[in-house]
Amino acid sequence: TSSITIGNSRSSTPVTVGGTTSVPVIMAGPCSVENREQILRIAREVKEAGGQVLRGGAFKPRTSPYQFQGLGVEGLRLLAEAREETGLPVITEVMDIAMLDTVAEYTDVLQIGARNMQNYALLQAVGRHSKKLPVLLKRGLSATIEEWLLAAEYIVASGNPNVMLCERGIRSYDTQTRNVLDLTCVPLLQELTHLPVIIDPSHATGKRELVPAMSRASIAAGAHGLIIETHYDPAKAISDARQTISTEQLRQISREARELAHIL
Ligand code: PEP
Ligand code: MN
Repeated sequence: TSSITIGNSRSSTPVTVGGTTSVPVIMAGPCSVENREQILRIAREVKEAGGQVLRGGAFKPRTSPYQFQGLGVEGLRLLAEAREETGLPVITEVMDIAMLDTVAEYTDVLQIGARNMQNYALLQAVGRHSKKLPVLLKRGLSATIEEWLLAAEYIVASGNPNVMLCERGIRSYDTQTRNVLDLTCVPLLQELTHLPVIIDPSHATGKRELVPAMSRASIAAGAHGLIIETHYDPAKAISDARQTISTEQLRQISREARELAHIL
């Protein structure tokens, strides 16, 4: 697996993903950046709980146009402030080419959302971007593994080899879970590509009580890291509350992840 370093800005502590490290990377934080107090408090708690990268959406791809769309540039500024204070590198979604330069100015990792996995113009723009920031490419809602790998190839072929693949569940018929977590992809991808694999058990399940078991299963399957929606008051999260875990639960998950990775 190739090794990707996250967080080369002055204010963040670099984190290595993949390569020869056996330490899984834990990315955690709210679905959306909601306000200054919220993101600063979550950043502190995530760090304290063993998280190494802070996640938080500033531009949100919401299913309904009437739902909270994120704080936009103000959200990016708040993420940078949280990084400044805690040293945690930051990951946030870039939704369109028009905002790429701005998002890249603030973030350490560019997240490409499931809904944009096949936005080829965006993939190429991200690949060409001069900062060559690491990219987390989420699997499309109903993308095959081959389509997903070819989407990653768009970024790599455009000039940025620092791509991580993120399985976040795929659409199926059962309504008990939001999506179906395809953990088979982890060993499969290890055969097919050198890119690190990150699992998002939050969007994959849609239910916070399923997140701990799926986190353990992900690491046991060989995933290089997890990205988990986390909040000090999960039920009050503005978006994706139902799947958001507490920082207490995150502490337990990150401990288990390290222990499991150690015995593999
Ligand atoms: C998210 O990370 O909050 C998100 C919108 O994820 P996805 O693109 O996987 O739905
Ligand atoms: Mn979310």
